[in-house]
Amino acid sequence: MQTIDQYSFKGKKVIIRVDFNVPLDKQTFAVTDDTRIRGALPTIKKILADGGSVILMSHLGRPKGVEEKYSLRHVIGRFSDLLGREVKFADDCMGESARKMSGELKPGEVLLLENLRFYAEEEGKPRLPDTASDEEKKAARAALKPKQKEFAKQLASYADVYVNDAFGTAHRAHASTALIADSFSVENKMFGYLINSELKAMDKVLNSSEKPFTAIMGGAKVSDKIPIIENLLDRAQNLIIGGGMTYTFIKAQGGRIGKSLCEDDKLELALEILKKAGEKGVRIYLPTDAVIADAFDASANTDISKVDETPDGWMGLDIADESIKAFGEVIANSKTVLWNGPMGVFEFEKFSKGTSAIAQAVAKATENGAFSLIGGGDSVAAINRNKLADRVSYVSTGGGAMLEYMEGKELPGIKAIRG
Ligand code: AMP
Repeated sequence: MQTIDQYSFKGKKVIIRVDFNVPLDKQTFAVTDDTRIRGALPTIKKILADGGSVILMSHLGRPKGVEEKYSLRHVIGRFSDLLGREVKFADDCMGESARKMSGELKPGEVLLLENLRFYAEEEGKPRLPDTASDEEKKAARAALKPKQKEFAKQLASYADVYVNDAFGTAHRAHASTALIADSFSVENKMFGYLINSELKAMDKVLNSSEKPFTAIMGGAKVSDKIPIIENLLDRAQNLIIGGGMTYTFIKAQGGRIGKSLCEDDKLELALEILKKAGEKGVRIYLPTDAVIADAFDASANTDISKVDETPDGWMGLDIADESIKAFGEVIANSKTVLWNGPMGVFEFEKFSKGTSAIAQAVAKATENGAFSLIGGGDSVAAINRNKLADRVSYVSTGGGAMLEYMEGKELPGIKAIRG
C-alpha cells in the first residue's frame, strides 16, 4: 500500500477527500468550529510542500439538492486563513468550472469543489418523495448506480492521485470515499495523515493493547453498542457500562428501574452479554448508585438511589458518587482505555457530573502512562468541555466510523485503499 510519507507529489494533481462538514452559524454562515478543517491541514501542506497541487472535495450537511446554506463557499475564508494561501473555488463539482479550474491548476495551488452532496450520485441515494413506493425506490436506486460510477469517474479525472483523509465518512460507500479509488492504480491512492493516525490509534487498542484494557461504554441504547461490546469481550479485561443502557442490564437481573430508559426486547441479550463476559473472564462494572430524577428535564427534582432500587415514577439520569469512585479506580489501574458514550444525560448540568468525572479519570490514567482513545460525539464533547483533549492519547474525529471499525467491520473507505 502506498503511503503519503513515501510519495513525492512534485508536479502531481492530487484530489483529496476531506471532511469539511463543519458547523456554521445559522445567520452569518461563519464557521463556528474549525476542528475538522485543522485536521486536514497536515496532508494538504505536505502535498503543497512537495510541489503538488490540491483539489479538495467534501460534503457539508445533508442537502436535498443545491441549497445555498450548505455551500462550501462558506468555509473558504476560514480555510484560507488557516492554510495561509489563496483558495480557488469551483461552484459546481461536476460542472465546466471544476473541469476547467482543475485542468489549469498549477503546483502550489489549491482548489475547493462545491458540496458533493448537491448531487444524489455522491451517496447513491435517490431523492424521492416520502410517498414513493418500495418498487419506485428500488428502481430509482438501480437507475442511479451507473450514474454514481460516472460521477466518481469524473471526480477522478481531475487528478493524478487520490488521497482519502475524511475519516468521518470512511464507513460510507460513497462516490468520493470509495468508488473513486477504482480509477487510481495502487501506487496512486493512499490515506492522508488524519486517517493514518485514526487507524494507528484504533489498531493499537484492538490489536496490541497493553493490559489491563478497560472499555467504557455509555450512551442511551444497548442496541447500538451490542456489536462493539461483543468484539471487545475478546479483547478487554474490564468493561464499564454506564448511561441509559445500564437499566436494561439492571432490569434483566431483576432490579427495580422505575421509569428509566430500558429496551425490553434486549433483556435476554443483556443477560447473554453478562454470561459471555463471565465465560471470557471479562469483568463487567455496572453502576451501583444513580442520580435519579422525577422527569426528563434540566430542572427536574433529583435524588440519589441504589441503581436497582429506583422508586416508581423516577428515572436514573446519571451515575452517582459510589459508582464514580469505583469506575475511577478501575480506570486508574488500566494501561489501555477506550471510551465511547456518556455516563448520563450530560447535556443537563444536573446530570453531567458522572460523565465529567470519567473524562477526568481517563485523563489522569493517561498521565500515568495509559493509552486512551475517545470516540463518539458525546464523549468527545465531554472531553472538550472539560478541556482535556490534550491530556488524552487520541480523540477520534469519526463517531460512526470509529464504532464500526471497533466492531470489527470493514469500512468501505478503508477497504478501497487498503484492499
Ligand atoms: P448514544 O448516542 O447512544 O451514545 O447516546 C447518547 C445520549 O445518551 C446522550 O444524549 C445522553 O443524554 C443519553 N443518555 C445518557 N445517559 C442516559 C440516561 N441514563 N437516560 C437517558 N438518556 C441517557
